[in-house]
Amino acid sequence: MRVGIMVTGLALAIVGLAFADGRHGAMLAEFRPDIMMLPQAVIIVLFLGLLVRGFLHRNRPRVGGKLGPIQTTDRPPALPSGFSRTYTRAVTLFVASDATHFPTLKAFLRDGTAQQPVVMRIYRVAGCKAEIEIPDRTADYERIDAAQALALLRELPDPRLVRRLHLRDEPSFLDPWVRKLRGEAFYNLGHATNFSLIVLYKPDWRLGQSLASTLLHEWLHLVAFASTVQLWRFKRANAIEPLPPLALEPVNFGDRNTEAYEAWCDLGEKLLGYDENAARQTALQTPLHAVILWRCVERMLRRTPLRLRSTRFDELIERGKFMRAEVEPKARALRARLRV
Ligand SMILES: [Zn+2]
Repeated sequence: MRVGIMVTGLALAIVGLAFADGRHGAMLAEFRPDIMMLPQAVIIVLFLGLLVRGFLHRNRPRVGGKLGPIQTTDRPPALPSGFSRTYTRAVTLFVASDATHFPTLKAFLRDGTAQQPVVMRIYRVAGCKAEIEIPDRTADYERIDAAQALALLRELPDPRLVRRLHLRDEPSFLDPWVRKLRGEAFYNLGHATNFSLIVLYKPDWRLGQSLASTLLHEWLHLVAFASTVQLWRFKRANAIEPLPPLALEPVNFGDRNTEAYEAWCDLGEKLLGYDENAARQTALQTPLHAVILWRCVERMLRRTPLRLRSTRFDELIERGKFMRAEVEPKARALRARLRV
């Protein structure tokens, strides 16, 4: 959405300039292609493409819901420490229960999902732009509260990658489609989108560390979305170091990088996970992939300002020493083979 608005402004400004200085008229009169106009034309085409895409997707269900207006409440709850403000917002969520009769994902998304208006209470994390969104009603499970969600967020190497951490009381509207393809036992624990959004489905505090692992997995998706070069190197490493197959075959919702993203997150979940031995073993089994991912994440970990520094900082820095001493030499040897 923000990109759309920025491109709109830029494109209109360029069109305005072209008309203002008379070049547009001159160009039409002479039919002479002007190389200077090429970038402007590309921007205008991209802008029109975004407009058409936005129009075609206007009624599509959206992960994390559609944000509505901010609401004012008389008695906001006491602000837990670590937050700078709280407010409520109307949000339209999407639900679905059955996908068996729909022949395509498109048909299911169009006709098999329903809207659900809710009010979300939103907590802005102090010192960054991250917001935690929690349904403003009592849950029928032991939902984590704002302070617990913030504690989970603070474990991440850099919480600033997350703009919205959305806690959801109902299952994902994509679950019926996943079950149709993979079987009845499957459902989404979390979801990340390239709008810096992470959704946690039914985040029950009794899940303990597996909830932290789900958040870590989704955060690694945000890292992958923002690390095009590293992801390209990660995929390229498959040529000499094939990764073991994933425990669950990912469902592709139309992104050509789905497999690479899931491989990245699966490996990252182990390398950065809570089991030191499993992290070390995994790194030694796939040193080339491990080093690419680890370097990318450790750079983020070290660059995060002190006030938002991960509560696992010391533990992960210590693990980094092992990566440099034991894993990097193995990766270097493999890389030398790639160059030959
Ligand atoms: Zn994933």
